[in-house]
Amino acid sequence: MSVSIQENEETLKAPKTATVLDYPIRLGKLEDLVHEAFHASPQVGGVHVVTLNPEMIIKGKESPEFGDILKTADFPLPDGAGVIWALKRQGIHQARIPGIEFAAALLERLHQTQCSRGVALLGAKPEVMGLLPMALLKRFPNLSLAFAHDGFFRNEDLVPIVEEMVATNPRVVLVALGVPRQEEWIKAFRTRFSEDTIFVGVGGSFDVWTGQIQRAPKLMQALNLEWLWRFSLEPWRIQRSMQPLLQYVWKVLKS
Ligand code: UDP
Repeated sequence: MSVSIQENEETLKAPKTATVLDYPIRLGKLEDLVHEAFHASPQVGGVHVVTLNPEMIIKGKESPEFGDILKTADFPLPDGAGVIWALKRQGIHQARIPGIEFAAALLERLHQTQCSRGVALLGAKPEVMGLLPMALLKRFPNLSLAFAHDGFFRNEDLVPIVEEMVATNPRVVLVALGVPRQEEWIKAFRTRFSEDTIFVGVGGSFDVWTGQIQRAPKLMQALNLEWLWRFSLEPWRIQRSMQPLLQYVWKVLKS
């Protein structure tokens, strides 16, 4: 397996990274990475956070375009237990950074700082989006909700939705359209937003925040077994995920 931990000794703020199957992964603690995301000054419009898991890495190997989005994302976070396992094989002990927790920490920060620029929410079923603003405001009363739209829109509404969203000048944009659509959406539209906008593809987070899906019990989370919980709630995922998972394990063992 190729290992690269790059540390710039000139500055403590330099990012720590490793690679898994040629995919860069950011290392560190959730709170430090959230801080960095807010203070990064990207050149190309926005900070794109991707939450990497084995399925995404294999998808990236099958589709170079998607692989490129993952490889060039500003914050590729170690979300999947399989990524943590691959890092451990390199002697790197990194805790999982679940995308849902990273996204919640961004919102917590907007709430705490009473940031006038708010969050834009795109994705999930209309009934979920109907519940989401209240659920978030209950948790983060000072959060400014800049924009909200469900993820089941017509193709011809894609650009008008983006334009409406851009006009609200959000500080954080959370996109829940599923993989790879959410990452492709961010790649396509990030440069339309202010340069300090933070984008996260959050998968099923809106479903969890509105109580439609339960996260795994804390013990399972601590044991990195959240994937097993997800399989038990949504067995259809097993068939979709099994082949990429086996491919991933094989590739990691071989590398
Ligand atoms: N979703 C959406 N529009 C679509 C398809 C999916 O908004 O056309 C939403 C779906 O309702 C869910 C999220 O995208 O809230 C996908 O989450 P999930 O974790 O199931 O997807 P994955 O990332 O595993 O593909």
